[in-house]
Amino acid sequence: MHGRGGEHGESFRCVGCRLDVSVTAPGTAHRNHCPQCLASLHLDARIPGDRASRCRGRMTAIGLAVRPDGEWLVIHRCLSCEGVSANRIAGDDNPLPLIRLATRPLADPGVPVRALLAL
Ligand SMILES: [Zn+2]
Ligand SMILES: [Zn+2]
Repeated sequence: MHGRGGEHGESFRCVGCRLDVSVTAPGTAHRNHCPQCLASLHLDARIPGDRASRCRGRMTAIGLAVRPDGEWLVIHRCLSCEGVSANRIAGDDNPLPLIRLATRPLADPGVPVRALLAL
């Protein structure tokens, strides 16, 4: 994995709750969602952190998934283009919205979670 060089001090304003979020976080190389409300922006195209998407729509967390290696992922869906992505949770994500997601079945059974987990 790549280090954190050059990313220091970078932050973004959460589209959901307006929190100023630092992109560096424990447990993830590149945080892209808000630790408070889990909202995100559609910036990445294929690989988390690639910032290759032109969409920039608001992404909302719709579910949680656990990879075979035990890693937890938040499933985000873009409200603009319906794109779905899976992102590692960060060490300081607020556990409350995570638990709410974990105890709720995926709202849309058509979400290709299996395909995402194969990444
Ligand atoms: Zn937020
Ligand atoms: Zn989008």
